[in-house]
Amino acid sequence: MAIEAHKCNQPGCKGFVVFENADFDLKDIPLDDKYSCYAFNRPHCSECDKEFLVIPHYIVIDVKDKDLGDWEQIDSACITAVERRQKQIKFECETDPRKRIEMYIERCGYTYSVADILQGYKEKMDHGYVSYTMKDCISKLENEIKQILVCEQV
Ligand SMILES: [Zn+2]
Repeated sequence: MAIEAHKCNQPGCKGFVVFENADFDLKDIPLDDKYSCYAFNRPHCSECDKEFLVIPHYIVIDVKDKDLGDWEQIDSACITAVERRQKQIKFECETDPRKRIEMYIERCGYTYSVADILQGYKEKMDHGYVSYTMKDCISKLENEIKQILVCEQV
């Protein structure tokens, strides 16, 4: 028999949500008719009577020893962070300077073409006016721009 307690999240309430988890059967999770979802229990706060649900849920852990004596729950992340990282990896693996420039422009949401960037670079070298966003592209993509210009001269 195991008693579980969770702190109530009602502002100002110092109560606890307490329930016994001994009877939970993972193979037979009852459907809660009030909320129409699978829930083991519907406990209430000991002080303010706020209702909570105990639901089956998985966590992702880093197993540090094989007997599960030491493990750590890892933080969850939002999917946009995953996508941002995927784009970054793709950019780092890409060796074609034109494709790298295109990826950078897309990532920043600019509307430049590769030709615009090359033109902007030449203008900057001639001490002409370049916009703030063009300056950003040129400073981040200088290696790629130089690679393309060197190829074009051959
Ligand atoms: Zn409460």
